[in-house]
Formats: sequence, structure tokens, C-alpha cells
Amino acid sequence: MSNESKAKGASTYYGAYTFGTEVMRTKLPKEVFKALQDTIKAGKKLPQDIAGVVAHGMKEWAMEHGATHYTHWFQPMTGTTAEKHDAFLSIERDGTAIERFSGEQLIQGEPDASSFPSGGMRTTFEARGYTAWDPTSPAFLMKGGKGLTLCIPTVFISYHGEALDEKTPLLRSMDAVSKAAIRLLDTIGITGVQRVITNAGVEQEYFLIDKKFYSQRPDLVMTGRTLLGALPPKGQQLEDHYFGSIPDRVLEFMQEVEEDLYLLGIPAKTRHNEVAPHQFEIAPTFEQANIASDHNLLIMEVLRKVADKKGFALLLFEKPFAGINGSGKHNNWSIGIDGGMNLLDPGETPESNISFLVFLVSVLKGLHKRAAVLRASVASIGNDHRLGANEAPPAVITAFLGAQLEGVLDAIESGKVDLKSQKQLIDLGLGHLPVLNKDYTDRNRTSPFAFTGNKFEFRAVGSSQPVSVPNMVLNTIMAEGIDATVDAIKAKVAAGTSVGDAIQEAIREGIVATKDVRYPGDNYSEDLQRAAAQRGLPNMKNTPEAVRAWIQKDTVDMFVKYGVLTAEEIDSRYNVRLERYVKGIDIEAKTLLLMINTMVIPDVSEYQGDISSSFNNLFAASEVIGISDEALKSQGAHLKGLAENLSKVIELAKVLEETVEEMEELESELEKADFCSARILPCMLAVREVADKLEFQVDRSRWQLPTYSEMLFEH
Ligand code: ADP
Ligand code: MG
Repeated sequence: MSNESKAKGASTYYGAYTFGTEVMRTKLPKEVFKALQDTIKAGKKLPQDIAGVVAHGMKEWAMEHGATHYTHWFQPMTGTTAEKHDAFLSIERDGTAIERFSGEQLIQGEPDASSFPSGGMRTTFEARGYTAWDPTSPAFLMKGGKGLTLCIPTVFISYHGEALDEKTPLLRSMDAVSKAAIRLLDTIGITGVQRVITNAGVEQEYFLIDKKFYSQRPDLVMTGRTLLGALPPKGQQLEDHYFGSIPDRVLEFMQEVEEDLYLLGIPAKTRHNEVAPHQFEIAPTFEQANIASDHNLLIMEVLRKVADKKGFALLLFEKPFAGINGSGKHNNWSIGIDGGMNLLDPGETPESNISFLVFLVSVLKGLHKRAAVLRASVASIGNDHRLGANEAPPAVITAFLGAQLEGVLDAIESGKVDLKSQKQLIDLGLGHLPVLNKDYTDRNRTSPFAFTGNKFEFRAVGSSQPVSVPNMVLNTIMAEGIDATVDAIKAKVAAGTSVGDAIQEAIREGIVATKDVRYPGDNYSEDLQRAAAQRGLPNMKNTPEAVRAWIQKDTVDMFVKYGVLTAEEIDSRYNVRLERYVKGIDIEAKTLLLMINTMVIPDVSEYQGDISSSFNNLFAASEVIGISDEALKSQGAHLKGLAENLSKVIELAKVLEETVEEMEELESELEKADFCSARILPCMLAVREVADKLEFQVDRSRWQLPTYSEMLFEH
């Protein structure tokens, strides 16, 4: 980008690489532009008859920026994004070269679906799948190599229409929650609403380390985390990194990331250091959940590309360093009328407080009933190291509302307040909530689901996970919670209660029924664990436990009822998640063995050879030079300690190897997953414990692996 546009500010080039409204207006004939806008607003598919014209306009625009290829950009169930590039260039029958991009090519692509996981949904001979443009998400130009590629955000579906991606269910869940919310609004007298949307603002944490260290660590390269590494004397105890000044080299990286994001129309807003050394955060302003989810994926991609260019390695794994804080993603979620009022904003009038309260109670209902599947939506190998490790929310899902709102709900519960009395509401502080909320609600950093003024912050998402899955679950469970509230009100009205009283009673009953899911205290405490057990809240400590929630009959029924996932689609997701877990742990275990066998054992043996020969020499000369037996013994003990740990690590590695082989005998993926967490991970930890001791016993120049202190404290 030219210095001139930089000097004029980001607003001058914001969105320049997206095929947004302004470009559409200039590139498309008026009627086509209008038809496309209507399609986007309605969240519909692009009509065939205008596809060709839109494609032509898009190609012209992309080529003006130097793009030569296009790709359908989609989210398979691997947790990343996928793309397959095709050139605009096409050779005519008579041999002339010409650039082409047809309506057909824009609307639909046909990647080889068999190379993506389907969780058994299709047998391979029916491998056909296709990608279809999602016009609600703008096409964009992605930098890479020497030029730009036109990327068309798409959904990825099988020939029979099953979702093979994470975006399709998210879009369906947006429809489900919109429908339910309109029904509730109607019931409380807010009529004529066309669409309700959910928003997400995603705070993304990450680590940056020097690339030269990364490439020397097979564990980071293969698994994203360090499987070995002793904690240096200085870790993060001093807490001097959080919000500290950002090192110049990193700042330069951040600036380039932001420039790229602005070009893509991604509203990057804040940047800062995080708690751990070399850990940082980037957060854009919130957007409609499906757009925010696409944008979060693009943010991760841009972070990775720019890091590589600047000589950094980007670590998105949830827990790259044992003993050092891991990385998460805070998914700030809210629900509101499209282009209008935020329904989680308490507002200043009794009426808006009523809509706030019915939605709040509905959210609590969704959470109370469906905590298990929400927990399952963020289960992964990496997140297992965070959730419940006293640095991130626990595996128990509860809501934190803040003292003020707790007080309001308690007062309503005990019947002390009449929700139709403006004076009482103001006395309660409801009239002032918007002003006071931030301070009152944002204090509890330990809660997985905290109300922060006019949104809920779901903090249990892992740093590497796409937010499409947790948002799909949030939307669906909220649709169900909202419907339950509507049904309660309607039942009362049918029984003869006035609408006003019915609403009030439904709110009160909802508060009572969901009380167990509210937890105002410290979520890292023993008390929370006890409360979870007493209240019967799900407490799933690891992925194999959590994944089971997907296929509980009741959960399946909910997704099917709301048209978000079919039973088959759920089953395939369950299978894919289990398989990814088992494969992931298998790779971790084998990488650890590789490192022990080819790095740790040779390094330690060599050093042991040195000190044993030096000990032998000393022993031989001890009489002559007058070394006491005591002095010899201490040096002997030093050697002995080393030799014993070396033998131990050799034995434990053998045990790990045998355990991995034992797993291969197991039949089902679920048994394997349970075996991974119950048997393989503990074996890996045992190996690590001894190897980490050895790291501090061995001559540094013989230890090939970059150490924690080099990776985390050198700049
Ligand atoms: P924090 O104190 O956690 O850093 P911020 O107020 O900076 O919180 O906001 C964090 C994220 O929440 C940002 O992405 C912001 O745009 C988003 N956010 C703010 N309001 C809403 C809302 N109504 N719905 C969804 N996200 C929101
Ligand atoms: Mg936050």
C-alpha cells in the first residue's frame, strides 16, 4: 500500500479488497445491483439469471487488482478453511487465451469431497460434494505469494444436501433463533420485526515466537504445542507482561496485520499484550455472527501469513507451553433486531426492560438446559489443557450476571417488585443499568459465560477453534430457550391470565427454574466444583467425555427440531471430533517418542559419557592428588542422578510406546478416545516429567532443543 493512503488513515482503504456494496454499485447494472442487495438482505441464494452478470463484475474488479485466480473458500469439519484455486485464464477451441468467470463458476464449485472428513456420512463412491456461494459474506481478495486471489465464501454440502461444513449449520441456526425471537417479540407486543440477528465480537489470543526456535522443535511443528520443556526460574509470576509496552518487532507485525485486515474490511479494533510472555490479543468490533465467524478465520490466516513473513511463528494452540497461561477466544454474543435494538440491553424504560428480562430469562433457560452441548462445542485436545486448569473457565458452564442484576432477579423472584411499576424498576436500578453495567458486571474473569452489560461473553472457546460451532450451538439453544418462554406466556394467556401478568409470571418462573446455572463466585474454586456436583451441572473434564453430549437423544432432537442439523449430520460431527482427538493424541505420543529417542536420549547419553569418563579419570588420580572419598562420592552422586534419570526416561518411553500399540488393538473410536485420555496422556506426562528434570541436569550445549527461556524471554 502506498504511504499516501496510509497517511490519510485506514478509512481510505478500508474494505478495498472486498466486493462490497460500493464496488457492486459501480461494477453492476442498476437492476442487478438491486437484485443482489435484496438477495443479501434476505439471506437467500443468488438467482441464476443474474449470476453471470455478477460474476463478470466481480472478475473485472478482481483483475483490476491483479488477481489471476479464484477459489471457493469454505470451512470443512477440520477446524480450518479450505481452498482450491482455478485460473480465470481459459483457452478457447481455436487456441486463443481469454479470462473467463461464469455465473456457474461463481455460484457453485465441485471440490473432491472425499478428501475432507465427513464422519462416515457418505461412502466414498458417493464422494461428490459442492460448494455454493453465501452472498451474505462478501467475496474478497486474499494476498499471498506474488499476488491476489479472489475468494468466494461458500457453504460446502454433499450431493444429497447434507452439511459437510461448519458454516451451513451456523446459517441455519441464525434462522432458527431469528424465528423464535420474532415470536417472542410478537408475544410481548413488539410486532412487525422482519429479522433478528445474533452478533459476535471475537477476542483472539495468540503467541508469537521466533521462527528459528520453532523450526528446531518437532513438537511445535507437528502438534502445535511443546511436549517437553522445563519451566524457567522466571515464568509469568511477575505478571509484568499484561498490558505492558508492546515490543517494536511485534508492533510492526501487528501494524501489518491490521493493514491487511482493513483491506479485507475486517474491523480490527484493539491490540495488546496478554498475561503470558510473548502472548498477545487482537479483537475486532462485533459483527453479525456468521460474518464475525468468517472474519475470525481470516484473522487467524492473516496472523499466520504476516508472522511467517516477519520471521515469527504464530502459535494458536490452546496451551503451547505447560505452566504458562494458554490462549483462548472470548466470543461476545448478543441478540438484536436487525438494524435496531439490542435485546440484551436493559434500556431505560419499563418496556425495554421487559424485553430485556424475557430475553435474559430465555438465555438462562437455554444455558441451563443445554450446558453440556455448549461445553461439547469447545472440546478439543488443546482446550482440554485449559478448561479447568485455573487460568481459563472451568469445564462447568455457569452464568455470571453481576451483583446488580443478581439483585434485580432476586427481587423479582421474591415477588418484591411489580415489573409494570416504573418507580420500582428505577429503585431497583434497572432504569440505570446501561450507565452502570460495565463496572458492575465485568469483574468476574473466571466465569465461562459472563453478562457484560449488553452481551454475554462466552470465554471457554479455544484459541484455534473456529467460532462457527459454538455460535451455532448458542443460537440453537437460545432459540429453544426463547420458545420455552413464549410457550409459558401463551399457556398462561390461554388459561385466562392477562398478557401483562402472564409475561411477569413467566419471567419469575424462568428465574426460579434456572437459578442453578447462575454462579456469582470464583469459578476456579473448590466451591464451584462442589456446587456443580450438588446442582447436577455437567462437569466434563475432557474431550471424550464432552463429545458424548452431541449424540444424546435429547440434544439430537433439539437440533433436528430447529432444522440446524439432521441426526446424520450430528453423527458425522461426533465421529469427526472423536477421530480428530484420537489422531491428534496419537501424533502427540509418537512425536514425543521421536524426540525422546532421537534428541533427549542421545544428548543425555553423550553428556553422561563425558562426565563418567571425567569421573573415572578423577577416580584413578584421586590418591595421587588427594581427593577424599567424600568428595568423590558427591561427584559420583551427581553422575548417578543423571544416569538414573536417563534409565528412567528410557523405561518410560518404552511404556509409552507399548501403550500406543495397545490402543491400536481397540475397536471403536470412542474406546480409543477414552484410552487416550486415561492411559496415553498420563504416560506422556510421566515421560515428560523425567525429561524435564534431565534438561536441567545436562550441559546446555548438548541439549538440542530450544528451551522455554529462549523461546519466551529472548526477543
Ligand atoms: P473486554 O473488556 O472483554 O476487552 P470489550 O468491551 O473491549 O470487552 O469488547 C470485547 C468484544 O465485544 C469486542 O469485539 C466488541 O466489539 C464486542 N462487543 C461489544 N458489544 C457487543 C455486542 N452488543 N454484541 C456482541 N459483541 C459485542
Ligand atoms: Mg473479553
